[in-house]
Amino acid sequence: MVDTRSIVANTSDMTIQDGRQRTGALVQIQKVLELEARKGYSDSSATNGVTRFAGERIAQVMGEVEGDARRTLQDLDALLASYRDLDPEARERVVAESLSLLRYAISASSNASPSRPAPSRAEPPPPQPKPAAAKAPATRKAKPQPMVGSLSDSVLLLPMVGDGRARQLGQVGVRTIRDLIYLFPRRYVDYSNLEKIGSLLFGQMSTIQGVVQSVSSSRTRTGKEMIDVVVQDETGWIHAIWFNPYIQRQLPEGTRVSLSGRVEQLRGTLCLKSPEWEVLSQDTLHTGRIAPVYPLTKGLYQKTLRTLVRTALDRSLHLVEEHLPPETLQRAALIEVREAIEWIHFPEGDTPDEARRRLGEARKRLAFDELLLMQLGLLQQKLDWQGGPGNEIAVDREVVQAFVRSLPFALTSAQNRALGEILRDMASPMPMTRLLQGDVGSGKTAVAAAAALAAINDGYQAAIMAPTELLAEQHLRSLIDLFANLPDNIRPSVGLITGSMNAAARREVYSLASDGGLDLVVGTQALIQESMTFSRLGFAVVDEQHRFGVDQRSALRDKGTNPDVLVMTATPIPRSLALTIHGDLDVSTLDELPPGRQPIETRWIPSRQSRNAYAFVRDEIAKGRQAFIVFPLVEESETIDAKSAVAEHERLSRDVFPDLRLGLLHGRMRPADKDEVMLSFRDGEIDVLVSTSVVEVGIDVPNATVMLIEGAERFGLAQLHQFRGRVGRGAEKSYCLLVSNDAAGDGRTRLQAMVDSQDGFRLAQIDLDLRGPGDFLGKRQSGLPELSLADFSDVRDLERARNEAQELLAEDPDLELPQHRVLAARVNAFWSHVVTEVS
Ligand code: ADP
Ligand code: MG
Repeated sequence: MVDTRSIVANTSDMTIQDGRQRTGALVQIQKVLELEARKGYSDSSATNGVTRFAGERIAQVMGEVEGDARRTLQDLDALLASYRDLDPEARERVVAESLSLLRYAISASSNASPSRPAPSRAEPPPPQPKPAAAKAPATRKAKPQPMVGSLSDSVLLLPMVGDGRARQLGQVGVRTIRDLIYLFPRRYVDYSNLEKIGSLLFGQMSTIQGVVQSVSSSRTRTGKEMIDVVVQDETGWIHAIWFNPYIQRQLPEGTRVSLSGRVEQLRGTLCLKSPEWEVLSQDTLHTGRIAPVYPLTKGLYQKTLRTLVRTALDRSLHLVEEHLPPETLQRAALIEVREAIEWIHFPEGDTPDEARRRLGEARKRLAFDELLLMQLGLLQQKLDWQGGPGNEIAVDREVVQAFVRSLPFALTSAQNRALGEILRDMASPMPMTRLLQGDVGSGKTAVAAAAALAAINDGYQAAIMAPTELLAEQHLRSLIDLFANLPDNIRPSVGLITGSMNAAARREVYSLASDGGLDLVVGTQALIQESMTFSRLGFAVVDEQHRFGVDQRSALRDKGTNPDVLVMTATPIPRSLALTIHGDLDVSTLDELPPGRQPIETRWIPSRQSRNAYAFVRDEIAKGRQAFIVFPLVEESETIDAKSAVAEHERLSRDVFPDLRLGLLHGRMRPADKDEVMLSFRDGEIDVLVSTSVVEVGIDVPNATVMLIEGAERFGLAQLHQFRGRVGRGAEKSYCLLVSNDAAGDGRTRLQAMVDSQDGFRLAQIDLDLRGPGDFLGKRQSGLPELSLADFSDVRDLERARNEAQELLAEDPDLELPQHRVLAARVNAFWSHVVTEVS
């Protein structure tokens, strides 16, 4: 650990004489910033604050350098200048970026080479013919304007931005100039391709321009206020309706407007329902072009944001440095970054087609950036994990075979394949980082058990971490069963560690694990607490990985010396995406269920027939079985949801199943209470478990044969499939009842898919097709940066990004070569936005 006081004391009377001391000053700044990161960006790492500490040292060094090195230090100085006033999130980014500048400056300085070898501030590339687009910003730039000093400067530096507006911008994630120019449009309104009202066709997305003829307001049957605006052009007129009274004031008669939306029907005539609208003016930022549409927040209008982005571009685009090496640009046929940023906001061209083409180029370039930055981060993570020497486990095939033979079933070929892949990794000197993905019930535990046994047989210990106590206990029980028929001399000793165990029991596990008296420890996060130590942990399994953050995974890893790590998940990911989100892992897939499983009969029941569904539940219970009833939550707030869960439970107990034993499970309950309910359900003391989606990941209750899902159209496909996986675990035939209103569109497709298929991978693919990659990934994956542009539909893009990332890292694993300085900074900044939310 770094002792702050010693850093500060050492340097108080420092004089800079040569390169080494120059480097010394920079290293001190580096250390203080690293300390900041550890202390949670509290600006407490240097006595007088980070800004002053760095400022003084930069000033000392500044006189000694020139050219690029000097500019780098100036950048650094500017970056840290307002450190004290930033919130921790912004500080984190500033620190990440400063560190990468420092790394460059230090390597340049210790090489005694003061000039930046890479032409990082090169001119934008001239070759492409680009008349209009290039001219417009150029003429704007020619006007004398106060220039932005650094992309990390606050948006407050822009005219039109005061505290209030800065706060609004903060709401959409924009704090710095960089944030603003990287705030990519969510979509565009293509005003360059206008249609005439007279030629509009039902069902099409259209944009029209016209004059407001009349505005009226009425109430719908449900009492909502509806604003009806009639807009006319020289070919005809059309109704536009909104359910937002405020429109009335915005669009008085005579206003020239542009409307964009799908053409629908209302009382026999064509209409636009809640279309995008814009009052027309001469301003070419907004009309007669492909106009960007940004995410907005209360009080922040599209127009304002467009103008702000335009201003920010004019003042700072020249500061954006190309971070991709020229070879990469060429190989992937990408345009230069400045051009791409300009065009992604304001695509222009001599013809609408030209503008659209440029927009396409811009998206392609910036989407590639996202994929590349993502892959670089993931691959660096993997290199980092695999960097240290791992354990070369001497896998005894005889022992593994003895285990497999002792099982009451034969392994499926998918299990055999996965086990082979895992054992091969374990035998290699490189630490394993492998994902085992497979549907619920595909037999992941047996595979993990065989691998654990191989490690244990070679004198190592193994650990399995599960997200809840019940799941940990369930694993323990299955492992004991799986190992039951092994000869005594190779049967491992197995222990459990959870938070709710009493202190004495816990202490016993601690001491047994630390002196090697336990071969295999199963547990919750209690496994990664400090008091838990292993004498020789060689194999670690993380179950249901999407519930754990990257930090928890690496904490488990740290309990051994580079143990082999196996991550297991029951949420399948289509192959096209596996690379992206598991770029840091090798993937094994169980794409086959053990033979003889009874299919779960899945039915779609209209809400008005929910009585039939209830009657079905009752029949099953009369046969001695149990049922789940899951219902969707509508509110954002957990408290309100808990209330409606309670209400639903009451309604069912009172009106529908007064004679049955009902239990209730919802997200607001304490973990211990949840476990208690699950246990009494498992032990048959509850007939019907009424639950919110928390039941998604749960323990096995073989006697439960009905999964009734209310409001099924509101759940995602992955979630529906997980729910269904709660039943069908015993010998009896099981059922999944999807109760739903007449779902339309995607809802209908999802429910039909559930009825048609029980293959998790297939359903995942359908889900991906329906939702698009962004949404699909969003819910599923924590620990990854958000992507705003990248579209995974083209696997080749993904593979290209991955290959480029591999090439770059093969040449420069830590991205510390001077020509990779800007790239390294982008990777850091990109990953500093990581979603750490764990569901
Ligand atoms: P997962 O963890 O993938 O959901 P499990 O490992 O819990 O699946 O396995 C589900 C059930 O199937 C367990 O009872 C397990 O013993 C059993 N099982 C595992 N592999 C096979 C197989 N090859 N043949 C038959 N049953 C199996
Ligand atoms: Mg399992």
